[in-house]
Amino acid sequence: MDCLFCAIVNGDIPSKKVYEDDRCYAFLDINPQAPVHCLVVPRLHVGSLDEIDGESAEAASHIIKTIPKIARELGLGNGYRVVTNIGEDGRQSVKHLHFHILGGECLSENMA
Ligand code: 5GP
Ligand code: ZN
Repeated sequence: MDCLFCAIVNGDIPSKKVYEDDRCYAFLDINPQAPVHCLVVPRLHVGSLDEIDGESAEAASHIIKTIPKIARELGLGNGYRVVTNIGEDGRQSVKHLHFHILGGECLSENMA
């Protein structure tokens, strides 16, 4: 399967690692949209939140529980935003589930 984030998780494409464990990998976004912009992905390939099943739901739940720890490591004690884009209307460009962590400043009130 030709998947950019699988290649990043496997180390075939370099990335700036922020955090990793047995189920997820977090790295800095190549095109940051906030002073701090990190992506968290499951090691297991799943296309998006729309394709969640039992095993990937466990991985996604693990990521949700891990995001506060990653945010603390990124110095986002004053708050942050978590976003996951889904499908065409959601403007998802990489078809491997990922959660954006955005922060480092007071973010826009607009979300769409
Ligand atoms: P999406 O638009 O699918 O929600 O988010 C995909 C994100 O992946 C974008 O914010 C984009 O900047 C980031 N991205 C795309 N290619 C790469 C890459 O090769 N390395 C890293 N670190 N981020 C990438
Ligand atoms: Zn993948």
